[in-house]
Amino acid sequence: MTEVHLTGRPASPGLAIGPVTLLTAAVADRSAVGDPTQEASALQAAIKAAAADITGLIATVQGEAVDILEFQVAMLEDDALAEGAYDAISAGIAADHAWRSALDAEISGYRDATDEYFRARAADLADIRDRVLAHLSGTDTARIFGDSIVAGEDISPTIFLAADWTRGGAIALAAGSPSSHVAMLARARGAPMVVGLGPLSWNGHPPSLALVDGDAGTVIFDPEPETRRLFEHRMLAANAARAVADAGRAGPACTADGRRIAVLLNIAAPEDLTGLDPAICDGIGLVRTEFLFEASHGLPDEDAQYAVYRRILDWAEGRPVTIRTLDAGGDKPIAGLTIDGERNPFLGLRGIRLSLARPEVFRVQLRALCRAAVHGTLKVMLPMVAVPSELDGAGGMLDAEFAALKAKGIACARPPLGIMVEVPAAALRAEDFAAAFYSIGSNDLTQYTMAAARDIGAVADLNDTGNPAVLALIAQTVEAGRKRGVEVSLCGDAAADTRLTTALLATGLTTLSVSPIAVARLKAAIAKVDA
Ligand code: PEP
Ligand code: MG
Repeated sequence: MTEVHLTGRPASPGLAIGPVTLLTAAVADRSAVGDPTQEASALQAAIKAAAADITGLIATVQGEAVDILEFQVAMLEDDALAEGAYDAISAGIAADHAWRSALDAEISGYRDATDEYFRARAADLADIRDRVLAHLSGTDTARIFGDSIVAGEDISPTIFLAADWTRGGAIALAAGSPSSHVAMLARARGAPMVVGLGPLSWNGHPPSLALVDGDAGTVIFDPEPETRRLFEHRMLAANAARAVADAGRAGPACTADGRRIAVLLNIAAPEDLTGLDPAICDGIGLVRTEFLFEASHGLPDEDAQYAVYRRILDWAEGRPVTIRTLDAGGDKPIAGLTIDGERNPFLGLRGIRLSLARPEVFRVQLRALCRAAVHGTLKVMLPMVAVPSELDGAGGMLDAEFAALKAKGIACARPPLGIMVEVPAAALRAEDFAAAFYSIGSNDLTQYTMAAARDIGAVADLNDTGNPAVLALIAQTVEAGRKRGVEVSLCGDAAADTRLTTALLATGLTTLSVSPIAVARLKAAIAKVDA
């Protein structure tokens, strides 16, 4: 068997070697399958397999989670659930499309229910829907282990988060983009990732082993022994170099001309801080709370959220911690909360728009944040703000939840409320917002300014934060912060791109927030900047 070399785009740095796990054909590709009898038995098998998965999971959980999973099995075993899908299959519709439509109709029925209990079940149905679809497409999330090379067309944040990446492993994708959320998560978790490899071809046989070079953007399937030996040699050298760089990350960041730059951390969960010394940073600049919601069965309640926020504040030992309210929608769907099938989700009900549309969900998060605020220096920020009335509306709700907690004698504080500046309208008029601080989301600011989606590889060249138009909006936001006397930071992925460090600091920025893995590299780059 000859080795197969593929070249794509680097999306997350690092080298990895491991057995290959294939994410087989994307769900939508199944529509070519035609025979109704085969489609009906494919659906039947997928439903059975999904029920077996969940039954297996029940043995590993306790308490309320058992009830939730038992409910899901009962739903799957109820013939009525799939009745509509089988009818559609007999009429010539492919199994995946038939199942999705039947379940989507069911889900919207639950979502519109007046009873809170039934509304909450919509998330379970969405989970069931996706699990069956995964089996239909051959994508078995349970088979993805963090120590393997996951290869396929694309991968969703949920599938990525289900694996334990602390054990090694990497991702090799035919499609995808370096600016997608899943690429960002891969960088944060230290999983090497290469995207845009084009059609994955295997010389007839599925590959058993792969080498991924997330720095160069290359993947070698089924390497010859000598190729593998050389690669392992490089891995050893790279690990040693990383250990040296990490040793230098504890000190404060200063430019060559003596400017002190605050370096903060971006995290998605308290687990991202495991084993880290808080002294490596000046605080936490971004907690992406939507990933807490995504991983749970249903939405986490106030106590569960409070516990997570408190763990992060405790870790920071008094350093400022900026927690962002839920930024669901766009490429971060949350079953039972975001809108399924939006025509253009990046321009839809996302971030603060969704939170204001679902006040019963938003208020829970605001209460948990007010309660956590007594345990450290908490700042709260709103994502995707476009107009001042969104900040004012959220501020009013935060005041109300704080007052209600106080009236009940519950320990709480009202944290300062700032905004992400990631919509060009907010960058152009930043001074109009009565925000306690601004944090520039360069990922979204770039995609909306350049009209180049962050998750579409074909326009990745245009999705460039170094473009003068984007840098001008960043500089304008920094100037607005200076005039209003409020802090401006940048927490998008451009902060970790050391090719941009000089240009970003030239806008007047003095605070950058990056994933923990990027701290050492960023501090070294800052030390070289000389205005
Ligand atoms: C951004 O848009 O730059 C940002 C930090 O938010 P997210 O990547 O989570 O959309
Ligand atoms: Mg954003």
